[in-house]
Amino acid sequence: MRIAMISEHASPLAVLGEEDAGGQNTHVAELAAALVGEGHDVRVYTRRDATNLPDTVSTTDGYQVCHVPAGPALRVPKDELLPYMGEFGRWLAGQWRDGDWTPDVAHAHFWMSGLATLHAGRRTRVPVVLTYHALGVVKKRHQGAKDTSPPGRIGYERALGRAVDRVIVQCQDEIGELVRLGVPRSRMALVPSGVNQEMFRPDGPVAPRDPARPRIITVGRMVERKGFLDVVRAMPAMPDAECVVVGGPPADQLPADAFARRLGALAESCGVADRVKLVGAVPREEMGRWYRSADLLVAAPWYEPFGLTPLEGMACGVPVVGTDVGGISDTVVAGLTGDLVPPRDHRALGTAIRRLLADKVRRFAYATAALDRIRSRYSWKRCAEQLSAVYAAVTAAGRPTPAVA
Ligand code: UDP
Repeated sequence: MRIAMISEHASPLAVLGEEDAGGQNTHVAELAAALVGEGHDVRVYTRRDATNLPDTVSTTDGYQVCHVPAGPALRVPKDELLPYMGEFGRWLAGQWRDGDWTPDVAHAHFWMSGLATLHAGRRTRVPVVLTYHALGVVKKRHQGAKDTSPPGRIGYERALGRAVDRVIVQCQDEIGELVRLGVPRSRMALVPSGVNQEMFRPDGPVAPRDPARPRIITVGRMVERKGFLDVVRAMPAMPDAECVVVGGPPADQLPADAFARRLGALAESCGVADRVKLVGAVPREEMGRWYRSADLLVAAPWYEPFGLTPLEGMACGVPVVGTDVGGISDTVVAGLTGDLVPPRDHRALGTAIRRLLADKVRRFAYATAALDRIRSRYSWKRCAEQLSAVYAAVTAAGRPTPAVA
């Protein structure tokens, strides 16, 4: 099949760790590669956010990345991209109508891509599949006035869920959220993300560490909801351990980063500054050596649409202490492959981490069970196979995509 993947802000070619570059970029890159592996012809459409980008890039994984001219050719925060989605959709429609490549199916990632893709799909009779990656209704609940999403987001997400040919959900929690939003369950297909088990494996190089000091690692974009502040607040509960924080801007820009400074100030006030180490953004290929250097991974977000980092840690044979939210509630089986604690509760987090650091046998048992779980359920190949079946179904249905409300 010819498959178009639309990811307006998250390019598969981006450097990860900064505010708007994380799991969606990884997801699109890995999925596109896995779909090529299944024999499909894949193009990824992402917004041109620099003038020096070529129109098209052919990746070594066999898919193409097309840089779409929509809005200024510079970095724009994702929450400010809505005004350019009409232009994005018109450009796609023009390409698919008049160009030499029309997809059999278009898979949009994130709601704004959904709007642009639906516009193009309606005009070219290309069926549209949507993965939200994150939901406005959840973001609003947790961030309240700090939520910078465009005002109409929740309404658009509801309308999209009813208009596209299929919604791909990534975890049970997302199903509940969407049903409450008014998206029929019958429109959804549950297809969790995978993890690259070549890149993330128990054996391989290990980042330097002090063998005498237990190490916990926490990974993600430097945004408040990732729970790094809770991890720092939990540190006094394990006086011997060090905490490595991976993500954010590159290391040399950390001193100027507002959130990194806040984290540093909190570590000072908790008396743990000498045990909290910020390493900044790490290239994807080097993530494995950081995971493997740790005794356990802490993933403490307030909410998490899916959460690739727990899967990556598990695939590296590192036990996980996570918050019982979103996709983490599905991927980590409490008491079997890791421990789950309530979000935004640094005391529960500290207790769970301290207990697991003190229990080598349990860590080994969790890591072994986690690896089994990863190998049996969470490969990108499996994800691509399941999605291929969804694409085949929507293409066979041949139903023109109805208008968004
Ligand atoms: N990541 C990375 N380098 C960093 C920080 C993060 O490559 O410095 C990657 C990480 O390995 C994972 C992704 O970014 O693949 C984060 O995905 P996750 O689903 O955990 O969080 P999101 O960014 O989607 O909120």
